[in-house]
Amino acid sequence: MMDLRIGLGFDSHEFEAGKKLILGGVEIKYEYGLKGHSDGDALLHAITDAILGAIGEKDIGEIFKDTDPRWKNAPSSIFLKEALELMKDKGFKIVNLDCTIIVDKPKIAPYKDEIKKNLSQFIGISKDRISIKGKRREGFCKDNGLICMCVVLLVK
Ligand code: MG
Repeated sequence: MMDLRIGLGFDSHEFEAGKKLILGGVEIKYEYGLKGHSDGDALLHAITDAILGAIGEKDIGEIFKDTDPRWKNAPSSIFLKEALELMKDKGFKIVNLDCTIIVDKPKIAPYKDEIKKNLSQFIGISKDRISIKGKRREGFCKDNGLICMCVVLLVK
């Protein structure tokens, strides 16, 4: 029998003026960035947590404490790299990633392909195993930040 694992990641960050908006390691032109101890890349945080969840590890906040000065303004690719290493140590690889970014502005569609390309190179899986979807809030929640969700499937 195939050893499959599924993981779910969720992250929400408030907008903050004077910071670059980075999602999936890609800079997005917008007047606000995301508040956070690191670079605030909520998409990478959600993907990292999905992988950690799938392999039954501690969550991103437990492994990378937001009080640790080492992670101050750190690129979130550090967190994803660590999760991928833990995953490989346990003998798993990614089957696919499905991500949703919930935000009204900025529009995600023009950046989807670049985000997929960046993730595909960083993670080492083909682009057709990665999905990035942009969804508007449709009036739900306050319009002062964004939410990222990710489901990942792993196989041993
Ligand atoms: Mg976060």
